[in-house]
Amino acid sequence: MSSTSFTTSIDQRGVFTARLDVTDRAQNVFTPTVVQELSAIVDQVESDPSLHLVVFRSGKDSGFLAGADVEQISEVVDSDQARAISHAGQELFGRIERLSVPTLAVIHGPCLGGGLEFALACRYRVARDDASTRLGQPEVELGILPGWGGTLRLPRQVGLTTALPMILTGKRLSARDAARCGLIDEAPAAGSWSADVEAFIDGLLAGRSPRRPGNGLLKWLADRTPPGRWLVLRTAQGKTRRHADHYPAPDLALTAIRQGLRSAEAGLAAERAAIAELLFTPTCRNLVGLFFQRERARAVTTWVSDNSTPSATTRVGVVGAGVMGAGIAQLAAHTGADVVLRDISDELIQQGRERIVGAWDKLVSRGRLSPADRDQRVDRLTTTTDAADLSDVDIVIEAVTEREEIKRTVFSELDPLLPPEAILATNTSALSVTRLAEVTGRADRVAGLHFFNPVHRMPLVEIITTDTTSSETLSRLVTLVRGLGKTPLRVADQPGFLVNRVLAGYLDEAVRLVCEGHSVEKIDKSMRSFGMPMGPLQLLDQIGLDVALHVASGTTDPSDHSGPTPARLEKMVEEGLFGVKTGAGFYRYRRGKPVGPTPGPGPREPARFADDEEALAHSWPAPVTATQLRLVLPLINTAAECLEANVVSEPWMVDLGMVLGTGFAPFRGGPLKLADTWGTRTVVSALQRLADVQGPRFAPCPLLTELAARTDGRFHTDA
Ligand code: NAD
Repeated sequence: MSSTSFTTSIDQRGVFTARLDVTDRAQNVFTPTVVQELSAIVDQVESDPSLHLVVFRSGKDSGFLAGADVEQISEVVDSDQARAISHAGQELFGRIERLSVPTLAVIHGPCLGGGLEFALACRYRVARDDASTRLGQPEVELGILPGWGGTLRLPRQVGLTTALPMILTGKRLSARDAARCGLIDEAPAAGSWSADVEAFIDGLLAGRSPRRPGNGLLKWLADRTPPGRWLVLRTAQGKTRRHADHYPAPDLALTAIRQGLRSAEAGLAAERAAIAELLFTPTCRNLVGLFFQRERARAVTTWVSDNSTPSATTRVGVVGAGVMGAGIAQLAAHTGADVVLRDISDELIQQGRERIVGAWDKLVSRGRLSPADRDQRVDRLTTTTDAADLSDVDIVIEAVTEREEIKRTVFSELDPLLPPEAILATNTSALSVTRLAEVTGRADRVAGLHFFNPVHRMPLVEIITTDTTSSETLSRLVTLVRGLGKTPLRVADQPGFLVNRVLAGYLDEAVRLVCEGHSVEKIDKSMRSFGMPMGPLQLLDQIGLDVALHVASGTTDPSDHSGPTPARLEKMVEEGLFGVKTGAGFYRYRRGKPVGPTPGPGPREPARFADDEEALAHSWPAPVTATQLRLVLPLINTAAECLEANVVSEPWMVDLGMVLGTGFAPFRGGPLKLADTWGTRTVVSALQRLADVQGPRFAPCPLLTELAARTDGRFHTDA
């Protein structure tokens, strides 16, 4: 049998092995060809009674199977086709499950989506215990659900309480966690992987069944008894229903799970129906769009035309061991670099070290990192107060106090010390990178690397290039950022770069609403229901009102400062209301959680929007509030302005940056995608009306106006 994706063999013991290696792909994914060829393998296995075991494994180092091919998901034309694809996968995995010969999935690296559904159809599973191995059903992240029997088999295998977070939120499990909950039978260590897999196979051939872990009584009650299941499902439904308008997939997945508990037939039918519906929702289209944008951003060729492989960055220097510096140093050491972290005093450097090692210790105590892996990371970290220790690094990332003269001094001190090829990068939020480069003799190797706080969690890094940054430097930085597990976005050296510039106007408008007398809680609630992860005022508290005040004065044109925002922030800072870090800002905080708004200055009339603003919201083509329009329309306007000013070169970059950098409602696809959805003409006329009521800060930018004047003028051409 000829196969382009599988290599098969049968040994003397009667063990049939199929190795998957999808050609022309960095990772294995289910393409129609793979499905066809797997089906042919099942035909062969079904008709060969001499086999004693069938083993499925990957021929790629990059992992077992990363899931369905997203490209093909996006090309499905109608719901009949969607249903047929789902049905074909369900049938195929049903046949694998019913094979009389035992089947084993040997897993390393990602085993996600359709990959896990495939593995679940096998009778046994082993997975290599290392950081690369991840098992999960992340389909909801693309606005769909597992459509090849996953909603049925996963709960049966691991119980509802473990399966629900995986299916409804995309939670991934490490090999060790997967073994603990019975998703896999064994998690051999990477060091003894091959021998342990062979021993496992020998055991199966000798008729030994692996032991499945016992459940605690409570978990058993919740997972396996009707009242327990009812309660678990009902609790989950409370959450999925609340978000179903924006994210319908988890709610439909829950329906499929519930049906699957009644009968396999009903569960599979519910999966098919849900896939057929979800694939064509704007949410799915937007989430899939963002998936592709992220892939694009991570490709070096998107940013640099020269395709040569840049030299590796293995030794990283970080200067400044504060919040950001410690976070960056930790991430770099965590992902394999040797790191030298420098600050100005032993005490500060000690604090930085404690912060980093403490975070690893926490991972160890939660079973997410082995003590040996922690020790290895600690060994990769050197802390110092001596700049000379940075003399052999490939790059220095500067994260010292946000003052130009301090940063210029740091740059001019480091420049003569570093190897000639080394890159000097700054994590500044608002200062001109060009001005920092001026004090060095290596302007071609100077750039900004703008990480977001908290570093370990935020997925975006803005790479700020100046007129003199070389393409080799850019290509090395893109590769470095990818290696750190982040998504790079190249932005121009303009005040606020992309994310902070767009955010600044939005936050400014939120404070204006407060000054007009609108309720802090209502403003935030309105924006959360719009789809933001956090309201703008709580976000300001997180950033710190002192920092916000500083950034605001650095990012916006001083002529814009006629508004009340800086004065309000200044007053709050004077009163010690810095936000979360002082326990009070717009809200009061207890243990970092808001417990209510901080009382504002004096009693006043409850605020109202102007009649025109209310009328605008009522006549809007989608359900919105006046608050949402006041905040989102200027955000769209600034986003368009950034494109116009060439901060980034294409609309998708603005959208990806805002979604990854601020959590801008992903299901809406980003601010410019949202403008397309609402219609650029609608957006422009609304901005003009708001400008009449509120003043020229709402005046639509020329690019928006120009697009609106065209028939069907849109930012994105794909839809
Ligand atoms: P921080 O105050 O927590 O840390 C700054 C550290 O730099 C301090 O430990 C200080 O001792 C050290 N330092 C000062 N001068 C130094 C010198 N000459 N040599 C070595 N170390 C020196 O500040 P942070 O919040 O970590 O911010 C650092 C940088 O990151 C700033 O440029 C800031 O704008 C930027 N940034 C901050 C955030 C954030 O949310 N905190 C987000 C993105 C970017």
